[in-house]
Amino acid sequence: SAKPDDMDPAVWEKIKDHPCYSEEAHHYFARMHVAVAPACNIQCNYCNRKYDCANESRPGVVSEKLTPDQARRKVIAVANEVPQLSVLGIAGPGDACYDWKKTRATFEEVSRDIPDIKLCISTNGLALPDHVDELAEMNVDHVTITINMVDPEIGTKIYPWIFYRNRRYTGLEASQILHERQMLGLEMLTARGILTKINSVMIPGVNDEHLIEVNKWVKERGAFLHNVMPLISDPAHGTHFGLTGQRGPKAMELKALQDKLEGGAKLMRHCRQCRADAVGLLGEDRGQEFTLDQIPEEVT
Ligand code: SF4
Ligand code: SF4
Repeated sequence: SAKPDDMDPAVWEKIKDHPCYSEEAHHYFARMHVAVAPACNIQCNYCNRKYDCANESRPGVVSEKLTPDQARRKVIAVANEVPQLSVLGIAGPGDACYDWKKTRATFEEVSRDIPDIKLCISTNGLALPDHVDELAEMNVDHVTITINMVDPEIGTKIYPWIFYRNRRYTGLEASQILHERQMLGLEMLTARGILTKINSVMIPGVNDEHLIEVNKWVKERGAFLHNVMPLISDPAHGTHFGLTGQRGPKAMELKALQDKLEGGAKLMRHCRQCRADAVGLLGEDRGQEFTLDQIPEEVT
């Protein structure tokens, strides 16, 4: 497939086979997520902890939580059935960097058996700087950080609290710390040549116009893609926003914002938010064929 004109050839070399990044590749290569990381260290107003993290997956679904060993068995079972499998991602259902021991154990076990699989994670960024060196050692070549603001004042409307270094922070202080850690994490990844995509959740009246500023900051710090996702506000899921009547953007509002961002870090338009336990080619979810009860105890 063809390289977009404005993309660095070295970046293109890394992503051309990646189903999440290349519109072409997503027809030929498959990715899967394993939901091994249930714990999270922040509270987003749009999140209900019963469901998957909205960082990189469709909110409002419950994924089958796995231990690292169960995840290893599942990945091998899928690799045997889906020859196009090229990418293994950990996208929650909480935060892959906060629930670090499980993320690391899963990647170590899987890459022992399938050394050429590409590894990636998504994270809210708070714990990210603590693990960037290990991510580089494990050959994780793609990271997604969800960044919804670069102004902590705006952050106070999105994040009621964070849990950092054994302490809970609220208010402006919480958002200030989160912001600094997100920027530091992004800079550290860029310095190590790890590709970083930014996801932003567009929340009308809260951060919609502000995402233009976010786009500038992340582009300056080396993010290679910026993906704006609409807030899916559903009171039935009991999110804080849902309860206060926060609406999601209309399709036209989302498109208008994406058009304004087009000149910045290259915008990703083909993303379909997938489940934290998605399996298969993009736009296809074979996750239900590979639930634990269908996977043999011993896989080779
Ligand atoms: Fe929920 Fe993800 Fe936010 Fe954590 S980072 S509160 S799991 S949406
Ligand atoms: Fe794709 Fe993101 Fe999942 Fe990685 S974590 S496989 S980039 S959707």
